[in-house]
Amino acid sequence: MNATTTLILGGGFGGIVTANTLRGLLPAEHKIVLIDKSATFNIGATKTWIMLGERTPEQVTHNLSALSNRGIGFVQAEVQKIDPVKREVVTSKKTLCGDFLVLALGADMNLGKVPGLEAAAQTFYTLDGALRLCEVLPKFDRGELVMLIPATPFKCPPGPYEAAMLLHEYFTKRGHSDKIKLSIHTVEPTPMGTAGPQMGQFIRGEMQKRDIALHTQRRCKSIDVTSRRITFEDGSTAPFDLLIAIPPHEAPLPVRAAGLTDASGWIPVDPKTLKTSVDRVYAIGDLCKVSLPGRFKPEMPLVLPKAGVFAEAHGRVVAHQIAAAALGKTPSEVYDGKGYCYIEMGDRQALKGDGEFFALPHPYMNAQSPDTAMYEAKFAWAEDWVRRYL
Ligand SMILES: Cc1cc2nc3c(=O)[nH]c(=O)nc-3n(C[C@H](O)[C@H](O)[C@H](O)COP(=O)(O)OP(=O)(O)OC[C@H]3O[C@@H](n4cnc5c(N)ncnc54)[C@H](O)[C@@H]3O)c2cc1C
Repeated sequence: MNATTTLILGGGFGGIVTANTLRGLLPAEHKIVLIDKSATFNIGATKTWIMLGERTPEQVTHNLSALSNRGIGFVQAEVQKIDPVKREVVTSKKTLCGDFLVLALGADMNLGKVPGLEAAAQTFYTLDGALRLCEVLPKFDRGELVMLIPATPFKCPPGPYEAAMLLHEYFTKRGHSDKIKLSIHTVEPTPMGTAGPQMGQFIRGEMQKRDIALHTQRRCKSIDVTSRRITFEDGSTAPFDLLIAIPPHEAPLPVRAAGLTDASGWIPVDPKTLKTSVDRVYAIGDLCKVSLPGRFKPEMPLVLPKAGVFAEAHGRVVAHQIAAAALGKTPSEVYDGKGYCYIEMGDRQALKGDGEFFALPHPYMNAQSPDTAMYEAKFAWAEDWVRRYL
Protein backbone atom coordinates (compact mmCIF):
# COMPACT_ATOMS: atom_id res chain seq x y z
CA MET A 1 0.00 0.00 0.00
CA ASN A 2 1.25 3.52 -0.79
CA ALA A 3 1.43 6.17 1.93
CA THR A 4 -1.76 5.90 3.96
CA THR A 5 -3.93 8.15 6.09
CA THR A 6 -5.35 6.89 9.38
CA LEU A 7 -8.17 8.88 10.91
CA ILE A 8 -8.55 8.44 14.66
CA LEU A 9 -11.88 9.76 15.93
CA GLY A 10 -11.55 10.68 19.60
CA GLY A 11 -8.48 11.87 21.45
CA GLY A 12 -9.12 10.16 24.77
CA PHE A 13 -7.41 7.24 26.46
CA GLY A 14 -7.60 4.91 23.47
CA GLY A 15 -7.23 7.40 20.61
CA ILE A 16 -4.07 8.98 22.03
CA VAL A 17 -2.41 5.58 22.51
CA THR A 18 -3.40 4.45 19.00
CA ALA A 19 -1.90 7.59 17.48
CA ASN A 20 1.36 7.37 19.42
CA THR A 21 1.86 3.65 18.84
CA LEU A 22 1.07 3.92 15.14
CA ARG A 23 3.46 6.85 14.75
CA GLY A 24 6.21 4.63 16.14
CA LEU A 25 5.39 1.88 13.64
CA LEU A 26 4.84 3.78 10.38
CA PRO A 27 7.28 5.95 8.39
CA ALA A 28 6.55 9.70 8.31
CA GLU A 29 4.89 9.66 4.86
CA HIS A 30 1.92 7.80 6.39
CA LYS A 31 -0.43 10.41 7.83
CA ILE A 32 -2.06 10.04 11.23
CA VAL A 33 -4.84 12.49 12.04
CA LEU A 34 -6.61 12.57 15.39
CA ILE A 35 -9.92 14.43 15.73
CA ASP A 36 -11.47 15.52 19.01
CA LYS A 37 -14.05 18.17 19.87
CA SER A 38 -12.07 19.05 22.98
CA ALA A 39 -8.67 20.79 22.95
CA THR A 40 -7.66 18.96 26.09
CA PHE A 41 -7.53 15.53 27.75
CA ASN A 42 -7.65 14.40 31.35
CA ILE A 43 -7.38 10.91 32.80
CA GLY A 44 -10.67 9.57 34.22
CA ALA A 45 -9.07 8.53 37.52
CA THR A 46 -8.20 12.16 38.30
CA LYS A 47 -11.89 13.06 38.72
CA THR A 48 -12.18 11.77 42.29
CA TRP A 49 -9.05 13.78 43.13
CA ILE A 50 -10.78 16.90 41.73
CA MET A 51 -13.99 16.09 43.63
CA LEU A 52 -12.07 15.87 46.90
CA GLY A 53 -10.03 19.03 46.22
CA GLU A 54 -6.75 17.10 46.03
CA ARG A 55 -5.93 18.31 42.52
CA THR A 56 -6.86 21.37 40.45
CA PRO A 57 -8.16 21.01 36.88
CA GLU A 58 -4.97 22.72 35.64
CA GLN A 59 -2.88 19.95 37.23
CA VAL A 60 -4.72 17.16 35.40
CA THR A 61 -5.55 18.80 32.06
CA HIS A 62 -3.28 18.29 29.06
CA ASN A 63 -3.33 19.91 25.60
CA LEU A 64 -3.93 17.61 22.66
CA SER A 65 -2.03 20.08 20.44
CA ALA A 66 1.13 18.54 22.01
CA LEU A 67 0.54 15.57 19.68
CA SER A 68 1.72 17.62 16.70
CA ASN A 69 5.27 17.56 18.20
CA ARG A 70 5.09 13.80 17.80
CA GLY A 71 4.19 13.83 14.11
CA ILE A 72 0.46 13.37 14.71
CA GLY A 73 -2.00 15.78 13.12
CA PHE A 74 -4.62 17.11 15.53
CA VAL A 75 -7.93 18.57 14.34
CA GLN A 76 -10.10 20.12 17.02
CA ALA A 77 -13.59 19.59 15.62
CA GLU A 78 -16.80 17.79 16.42
CA VAL A 79 -17.41 14.55 14.54
CA GLN A 80 -20.91 14.89 13.09
CA LYS A 81 -21.27 12.04 10.63
CA ILE A 82 -19.37 8.85 9.94
CA ASP A 83 -19.60 6.84 6.73
CA PRO A 84 -17.76 3.64 7.66
CA VAL A 85 -17.88 2.10 4.18
CA LYS A 86 -16.31 5.16 2.53
CA ARG A 87 -14.24 5.79 5.71
CA GLU A 88 -15.40 9.38 5.44
CA VAL A 89 -15.98 11.67 8.40
CA VAL A 90 -17.93 14.92 8.40
CA THR A 91 -16.73 17.24 11.15
CA SER A 92 -17.73 20.74 12.23
CA LYS A 93 -14.64 22.02 10.34
CA LYS A 94 -14.15 19.80 7.29
CA THR A 95 -14.80 16.42 5.73
CA LEU A 96 -11.96 13.93 5.96
CA CYS A 97 -11.35 10.60 4.31
CA GLY A 98 -8.94 7.88 5.43
CA ASP A 99 -7.53 4.52 4.43
CA PHE A 100 -8.07 3.34 8.01
CA LEU A 101 -10.63 4.54 10.52
CA VAL A 102 -10.34 4.10 14.28
CA LEU A 103 -13.47 4.89 16.27
CA ALA A 104 -12.42 5.95 19.77
CA LEU A 105 -15.16 8.41 20.72
CA GLY A 106 -15.80 6.87 24.14
CA ALA A 107 -19.17 6.91 25.89
CA ASP A 108 -21.46 9.90 26.26
CA MET A 109 -23.04 10.41 29.65
CA ASN A 110 -26.73 11.14 29.78
CA LEU A 111 -28.33 12.00 33.13
CA GLY A 112 -31.49 12.81 31.17
CA LYS A 113 -32.22 9.11 30.65
CA VAL A 114 -33.81 8.80 34.11
CA PRO A 115 -36.71 11.20 34.80
CA GLY A 116 -35.66 13.78 37.38
CA LEU A 117 -32.04 12.65 37.62
CA GLU A 118 -30.48 15.64 35.86
CA ALA A 119 -32.18 18.14 38.16
CA ALA A 120 -31.49 16.18 41.33
CA ALA A 121 -28.05 14.63 41.01
CA GLN A 122 -24.43 15.61 41.22
CA THR A 123 -21.81 13.48 39.48
CA PHE A 124 -18.05 13.09 39.63
CA TYR A 125 -18.02 11.22 36.30
CA THR A 126 -17.35 14.46 34.37
CA LEU A 127 -14.72 17.10 35.09
CA ASP A 128 -17.36 19.83 35.50
CA GLY A 129 -19.40 17.59 37.78
CA ALA A 130 -16.36 16.76 39.92
CA LEU A 131 -15.61 20.49 40.23
CA ARG A 132 -19.19 21.21 41.32
CA LEU A 133 -18.97 18.47 43.94
CA CYS A 134 -15.72 19.97 45.19
CA GLU A 135 -17.79 23.05 46.13
CA VAL A 136 -20.78 21.11 47.47
CA LEU A 137 -18.97 18.58 49.70
CA PRO A 138 -17.43 21.02 52.23
CA LYS A 139 -20.94 22.38 52.94
CA PHE A 140 -22.49 18.93 53.45
CA ASP A 141 -22.20 17.94 57.10
CA ARG A 142 -25.29 15.85 57.87
CA GLY A 143 -27.98 13.74 56.21
CA GLU A 144 -28.37 10.98 53.64
CA LEU A 145 -25.71 10.79 50.94
CA VAL A 146 -26.85 8.37 48.24
CA MET A 147 -24.66 7.07 45.43
CA LEU A 148 -26.92 5.91 42.59
CA ILE A 149 -25.93 3.59 39.74
CA PRO A 150 -29.06 3.51 37.57
CA ALA A 151 -27.68 1.77 34.45
CA THR A 152 -24.98 -0.57 33.19
CA PRO A 153 -22.54 -0.65 31.54
CA PHE A 154 -20.61 2.26 33.04
CA LYS A 155 -16.92 3.02 32.79
CA CYS A 156 -14.59 1.98 35.59
CA PRO A 157 -16.80 -0.55 37.46
CA PRO A 158 -14.94 -0.01 40.78
CA GLY A 159 -15.28 3.80 40.40
CA PRO A 160 -18.46 4.37 42.47
CA TYR A 161 -17.26 2.05 45.26
CA GLU A 162 -13.85 3.69 45.31
CA ALA A 163 -15.53 7.10 45.51
CA ALA A 164 -17.76 5.91 48.36
CA MET A 165 -14.71 4.79 50.35
CA LEU A 166 -12.94 8.10 49.67
CA LEU A 167 -16.04 10.07 50.69
CA HIS A 168 -16.25 8.03 53.87
CA GLU A 169 -12.67 9.00 54.66
CA TYR A 170 -13.36 12.65 53.71
CA PHE A 171 -16.29 12.98 56.12
CA THR A 172 -14.57 10.99 58.88
CA LYS A 173 -11.59 13.37 58.77
CA ARG A 174 -13.99 16.30 59.11
CA GLY A 175 -15.71 14.70 62.10
CA HIS A 176 -19.04 14.30 60.27
CA SER A 177 -19.16 10.53 59.82
CA ASP A 178 -21.70 9.97 62.62
CA LYS A 179 -24.08 12.56 61.09
CA ILE A 180 -23.83 11.41 57.47
CA LYS A 181 -25.39 8.16 56.30
CA LEU A 182 -23.74 6.83 53.14
CA SER A 183 -25.56 4.35 50.94
CA ILE A 184 -25.28 2.94 47.43
CA HIS A 185 -28.22 1.89 45.29
CA THR A 186 -27.12 0.01 42.20
CA VAL A 187 -28.85 -1.79 39.37
CA GLU A 188 -25.95 -4.28 39.36
CA PRO A 189 -26.51 -7.75 40.90
CA THR A 190 -23.11 -7.37 42.57
CA PRO A 191 -20.24 -4.87 42.45
CA MET A 192 -17.66 -5.51 39.69
CA GLY A 193 -19.62 -8.52 38.46
CA THR A 194 -17.37 -9.33 35.49
CA ALA A 195 -14.34 -9.60 37.79
CA GLY A 196 -16.03 -12.43 39.66
CA PRO A 197 -17.76 -13.24 42.94
CA GLN A 198 -14.61 -12.88 45.06
CA MET A 199 -14.10 -9.31 43.95
CA GLY A 200 -17.78 -8.57 44.56
CA GLN A 201 -17.54 -10.09 48.02
CA PHE A 202 -14.44 -8.04 48.77
CA ILE A 203 -16.19 -4.77 47.82
CA ARG A 204 -19.26 -5.72 49.87
CA GLY A 205 -17.00 -6.37 52.86
CA GLU A 206 -15.28 -3.00 52.49
CA MET A 207 -18.66 -1.24 52.33
CA GLN A 208 -19.80 -3.09 55.43
CA LYS A 209 -16.63 -2.15 57.37
CA ARG A 210 -17.42 1.51 56.69
CA ASP A 211 -21.13 1.22 57.42
CA ILE A 212 -21.98 2.07 53.80
CA ALA A 213 -25.31 0.41 53.01
CA LEU A 214 -25.16 -1.39 49.66
CA HIS A 215 -28.45 -2.14 47.90
CA THR A 216 -28.11 -4.17 44.69
CA GLN A 217 -30.54 -4.88 41.81
CA ARG A 218 -32.26 -1.55 42.41
CA ARG A 219 -33.97 -0.47 39.20
CA CYS A 220 -34.51 3.26 39.39
CA LYS A 221 -37.74 4.63 37.91
CA SER A 222 -37.59 8.34 38.68
CA ILE A 223 -36.29 10.97 41.04
CA ASP A 224 -38.35 13.68 42.71
CA VAL A 225 -36.09 16.66 43.23
CA THR A 226 -38.58 18.51 45.47
CA SER A 227 -39.18 15.73 47.99
CA ARG A 228 -35.60 14.44 47.43
CA ARG A 229 -36.67 10.87 46.95
CA ILE A 230 -35.74 8.10 44.51
CA THR A 231 -38.52 5.80 43.34
CA PHE A 232 -37.54 2.31 42.21
CA GLU A 233 -39.42 0.09 39.76
CA ASP A 234 -40.63 -2.21 42.58
CA GLY A 235 -42.42 0.78 44.16
CA SER A 236 -39.95 1.26 47.02
CA THR A 237 -38.34 4.63 47.62
CA ALA A 238 -35.16 6.03 49.16
CA PRO A 239 -34.66 9.53 50.55
CA PHE A 240 -31.53 11.61 49.94
CA ASP A 241 -30.07 14.93 50.98
CA LEU A 242 -27.19 14.69 48.54
CA LEU A 243 -27.49 12.47 45.48
CA ILE A 244 -24.39 11.49 43.51
CA ALA A 245 -25.16 9.55 40.34
CA ILE A 246 -23.20 7.59 37.79
CA PRO A 247 -24.84 8.87 34.59
CA PRO A 248 -26.28 6.31 32.15
CA HIS A 249 -23.78 5.82 29.32
CA GLU A 250 -24.48 5.62 25.58
CA ALA A 251 -22.42 5.58 22.39
CA PRO A 252 -22.06 9.09 20.92
CA LEU A 253 -24.81 10.01 18.44
CA PRO A 254 -22.69 9.92 15.22
CA VAL A 255 -21.57 6.41 16.19
CA ARG A 256 -25.15 5.22 16.72
CA ALA A 257 -26.15 6.83 13.40
CA ALA A 258 -23.28 5.12 11.53
CA GLY A 259 -25.05 1.76 11.68
CA LEU A 260 -22.22 -0.09 13.42
CA THR A 261 -23.85 -0.63 16.83
CA ASP A 262 -25.89 -3.71 17.74
CA ALA A 263 -28.89 -4.11 20.07
CA SER A 264 -26.63 -3.40 23.06
CA GLY A 265 -26.06 0.13 21.69
CA TRP A 266 -22.28 -0.47 21.38
CA ILE A 267 -20.08 -1.55 18.46
CA PRO A 268 -19.36 -5.29 18.44
CA VAL A 269 -15.75 -6.02 17.49
CA ASP A 270 -13.49 -8.99 17.00
CA PRO A 271 -12.16 -9.46 20.55
CA LYS A 272 -8.57 -10.01 19.40
CA THR A 273 -8.21 -7.48 16.57
CA LEU A 274 -10.87 -4.85 17.43
CA LYS A 275 -12.05 -4.99 13.81
CA THR A 276 -15.65 -3.96 13.17
CA SER A 277 -17.87 -5.54 10.51
CA VAL A 278 -16.50 -3.02 7.97
CA ASP A 279 -13.09 -3.50 6.38
CA ARG A 280 -10.32 -1.25 7.78
CA VAL A 281 -12.63 0.22 10.41
CA TYR A 282 -11.76 -0.47 14.06
CA ALA A 283 -13.57 0.43 17.28
CA ILE A 284 -11.79 0.63 20.61
CA GLY A 285 -12.33 1.54 24.25
CA ASP A 286 -15.61 2.50 25.84
CA LEU A 287 -17.66 2.45 22.64
CA CYS A 288 -16.85 -1.09 21.58
CA LYS A 289 -18.36 -4.33 22.77
CA VAL A 290 -15.86 -7.14 23.35
CA SER A 291 -17.72 -10.38 24.05
CA LEU A 292 -15.95 -12.65 26.52
CA PRO A 293 -15.65 -16.43 25.99
CA GLY A 294 -16.28 -17.34 29.65
CA ARG A 295 -19.17 -16.77 32.01
CA PHE A 296 -20.06 -17.27 35.66
CA LYS A 297 -23.65 -18.31 34.94
CA PRO A 298 -24.49 -20.19 31.71
CA GLU A 299 -27.42 -17.87 30.96
CA MET A 300 -25.40 -14.68 31.48
CA PRO A 301 -22.97 -13.77 28.66
CA LEU A 302 -20.27 -11.28 29.62
CA VAL A 303 -18.57 -8.37 27.91
CA LEU A 304 -15.28 -6.66 28.69
CA PRO A 305 -15.78 -3.83 31.20
CA LYS A 306 -15.16 -0.24 30.13
CA ALA A 307 -11.90 1.23 31.44
CA GLY A 308 -8.93 3.26 30.29
CA VAL A 309 -6.51 0.35 30.61
CA PHE A 310 -8.60 -1.61 28.10
CA ALA A 311 -8.84 1.38 25.73
CA GLU A 312 -5.05 1.68 25.98
CA ALA A 313 -4.48 -2.01 25.21
CA HIS A 314 -6.96 -1.82 22.31
CA GLY A 315 -5.16 1.24 20.95
CA ARG A 316 -1.84 -0.56 20.91
CA VAL A 317 -3.32 -3.62 19.17
CA VAL A 318 -5.15 -1.59 16.53
CA ALA A 319 -1.98 0.40 15.78
CA HIS A 320 -0.16 -2.89 15.12
CA GLN A 321 -3.04 -4.16 12.99
CA ILE A 322 -3.06 -0.98 10.88
CA ALA A 323 0.73 -0.75 10.55
CA ALA A 324 0.88 -4.37 9.39
CA ALA A 325 -1.87 -3.79 6.82
CA ALA A 326 -0.22 -0.58 5.58
CA LEU A 327 3.22 -2.20 5.27
CA GLY A 328 1.99 -5.55 3.93
CA LYS A 329 3.13 -7.51 6.99
CA THR A 330 1.50 -9.92 9.44
CA PRO A 331 0.22 -8.17 12.58
CA SER A 332 2.43 -8.94 15.58
CA GLU A 333 -0.11 -8.13 18.32
CA VAL A 334 -3.61 -9.21 19.21
CA TYR A 335 -5.59 -8.32 22.32
CA ASP A 336 -5.08 -10.86 25.12
CA GLY A 337 -7.99 -9.85 27.36
CA LYS A 338 -5.74 -8.64 30.17
CA GLY A 339 -6.32 -5.53 32.24
CA TYR A 340 -5.80 -4.18 35.71
CA CYS A 341 -7.12 -1.54 38.07
CA TYR A 342 -6.00 0.35 41.12
CA ILE A 343 -8.76 0.93 43.67
CA GLU A 344 -8.12 3.66 46.24
CA MET A 345 -9.56 2.74 49.61
CA GLY A 346 -8.77 5.82 51.72
CA ASP A 347 -6.03 6.24 54.30
CA ARG A 348 -3.36 6.23 51.52
CA GLN A 349 -4.15 2.59 50.70
CA ALA A 350 -4.94 1.11 47.31
CA LEU A 351 -5.51 -2.33 45.92
CA LYS A 352 -4.31 -3.55 42.52
CA GLY A 353 -6.38 -6.12 40.71
CA ASP A 354 -4.96 -7.95 37.68
CA GLY A 355 -7.59 -9.42 35.40
CA GLU A 356 -7.59 -12.13 32.73
CA PHE A 357 -10.87 -11.48 30.97
CA PHE A 358 -10.49 -14.08 28.20
CA ALA A 359 -9.86 -16.82 30.80
CA LEU A 360 -12.05 -19.95 30.86
CA PRO A 361 -14.40 -21.05 32.32
CA HIS A 362 -14.84 -17.41 33.41
CA PRO A 363 -12.83 -14.17 33.77
CA TYR A 364 -10.41 -14.08 36.63
CA MET A 365 -9.13 -11.21 38.75
CA ASN A 366 -6.27 -11.57 41.17
CA ALA A 367 -6.33 -8.82 43.80
CA GLN A 368 -3.48 -8.16 46.19
CA SER A 369 -4.01 -6.77 49.70
CA PRO A 370 -4.31 -2.98 49.77
CA ASP A 371 -1.18 -1.06 50.74
CA THR A 372 0.48 2.34 50.46
CA ALA A 373 2.83 1.18 47.70
CA MET A 374 -0.16 0.56 45.42
CA TYR A 375 -1.65 3.93 46.35
CA GLU A 376 1.58 5.59 45.23
CA ALA A 377 1.71 3.33 42.17
CA LYS A 378 -1.69 4.65 41.04
CA PHE A 379 -0.48 8.25 41.01
CA ALA A 380 2.77 7.19 39.30
CA TRP A 381 0.72 5.28 36.70
CA ALA A 382 -1.29 8.40 35.82
CA GLU A 383 1.79 10.65 35.65
CA ASP A 384 3.72 8.13 33.60
CA TRP A 385 0.83 7.76 31.15
CA VAL A 386 0.83 11.48 30.41
CA ARG A 387 4.63 11.60 30.09
CA ARG A 388 4.58 8.72 27.63
CA TYR A 389 1.76 9.82 25.36
CA LEU A 390 1.36 13.62 25.49
C1 LIG B 1 -14.34 8.82 37.78
C2 LIG B 1 -13.66 7.91 36.82
C3 LIG B 1 -12.56 7.15 37.23
C4 LIG B 1 -11.94 6.30 36.35
N1 LIG B 1 -10.86 5.58 36.79
C5 LIG B 1 -10.23 4.74 35.93
C6 LIG B 1 -9.08 4.01 36.36
O1 LIG B 1 -8.62 4.13 37.51
N2 LIG B 1 -8.51 3.17 35.46
C7 LIG B 1 -8.97 3.03 34.19
O2 LIG B 1 -8.42 2.26 33.42
N3 LIG B 1 -10.07 3.72 33.77
C8 LIG B 1 -10.69 4.57 34.60
N4 LIG B 1 -11.79 5.28 34.16
C9 LIG B 1 -12.37 4.99 32.84
C10 LIG B 1 -11.65 5.67 31.69
O3 LIG B 1 -11.57 7.06 31.91
C11 LIG B 1 -12.37 5.39 30.38
O4 LIG B 1 -12.73 4.05 30.30
C12 LIG B 1 -11.47 5.75 29.21
O5 LIG B 1 -11.27 7.14 29.18
C13 LIG B 1 -12.06 5.28 27.89
O6 LIG B 1 -11.22 5.64 26.85
P1 LIG B 1 -11.81 5.94 25.38
O7 LIG B 1 -10.64 6.32 24.55
O8 LIG B 1 -12.68 4.85 24.96
O9 LIG B 1 -12.77 7.20 25.60
P2 LIG B 1 -12.44 8.62 26.19
O10 LIG B 1 -11.17 8.62 26.95
O11 LIG B 1 -13.67 9.07 26.89
O12 LIG B 1 -12.23 9.51 24.90
C14 LIG B 1 -13.26 9.80 24.00
C15 LIG B 1 -12.91 11.11 23.30
O13 LIG B 1 -13.83 11.33 22.24
C16 LIG B 1 -14.17 12.69 22.19
N5 LIG B 1 -15.47 12.81 21.52
C17 LIG B 1 -16.65 12.26 21.89
N6 LIG B 1 -17.61 12.56 21.00
C18 LIG B 1 -17.02 13.34 20.05
C19 LIG B 1 -17.47 13.94 18.84
N7 LIG B 1 -18.73 13.82 18.41
N8 LIG B 1 -16.58 14.64 18.10
C20 LIG B 1 -15.28 14.76 18.50
N9 LIG B 1 -14.81 14.21 19.61
C21 LIG B 1 -15.65 13.50 20.38
C22 LIG B 1 -14.18 13.14 23.63
O14 LIG B 1 -13.97 14.53 23.72
C23 LIG B 1 -13.03 12.32 24.22
O15 LIG B 1 -11.81 13.03 24.23
C24 LIG B 1 -12.41 6.19 35.02
C25 LIG B 1 -13.47 6.97 34.59
C26 LIG B 1 -14.10 7.84 35.46
C27 LIG B 1 -15.22 8.69 34.98
